[in-house]
Amino acid sequence: MSARLLLIGPPGAGKGTQAARLRDMLRVPAISTGDIFRQNVREETPLGVKAKAYMDAGDNVPDSLTNDLVRDRLEQADCASGFLLDGYPRTLDQVAYLDSFLAEHDTAMDVVVELVADPDVVVERLRQRALDQGRSDDDESVVRHRLEIYRQQTAPLIGVYEERGLLVKVDGIGEIDEVTGRIASALAERGVVVAG
Ligand code: ADP
Repeated sequence: MSARLLLIGPPGAGKGTQAARLRDMLRVPAISTGDIFRQNVREETPLGVKAKAYMDAGDNVPDSLTNDLVRDRLEQADCASGFLLDGYPRTLDQVAYLDSFLAEHDTAMDVVVELVADPDVVVERLRQRALDQGRSDDDESVVRHRLEIYRQQTAPLIGVYEERGLLVKVDGIGEIDEVTGRIASALAERGVVVAG
C-alpha cells in the first residue's frame, strides 16, 4: 500500500534512527534533507558549497534551495507509491511548497508523526553524538541555536498538521525499539500497516 508520511521533531529527537526503521518496515524510501545536504557538503557539489555555512551555523538552508532538492527527489520513480520525509518541511514556506507539489501530483500526505522529546534530553543526546560522530553542527552552542530555530520556524508546523487532522504525537523518549513500536501502533490506528 502507499504511505506518504513525515516525521517532525526537534534535533536529537531520533528522527533519523526511526526513519531508517520505518523505511525498512514500510518499504518506502526515507528522504532526509539533512543527509542529502551533508552528502553534498562532503562531495563539495555547488549545492553543498551553498548549504555548508548555514548548516555549520545551525541555521536552516534557504527554502528555495531546499524545495528544489526535495522536488527533484520526490519526482524520482521510487517515490511514486509512497515516501517518508525526515527533516522536511521545516518552515511554513516549505509546507506551502510541499502542498502544491503534492496537489500537482494529485496526492497528499497521509500521516504526520511528531516525535516528542524534552529539550534537556535532546541536548544531552546531541552532546553524546558530537563525541561519537563529530558532526560539525553538534557543538553545544550550535545545538542550542538549532533548538531555537526549531522552536521559532518548525514548531508552528505542528499546529498546521494538527488542524488538518494528520498529526499523531509519539513519545520519543525510551529504547529505540520501544519508540518504533509506538510509531507503528500510531500508524496502524491511522490505517497505515507496518510489517514487522
Ligand atoms: P537535525 O534535525 O538534528 O537538526 P538534520 O540532519 O535534519 O538534523 O539537519 C541538519 C541541518 O541541515 C539543519 O540544521 C539545516 O541546516 C539543514 N536542513 C535539513 N533539512 C532542512 C530543511 N528542510 N530546510 C532547511 N534546512 C535544512
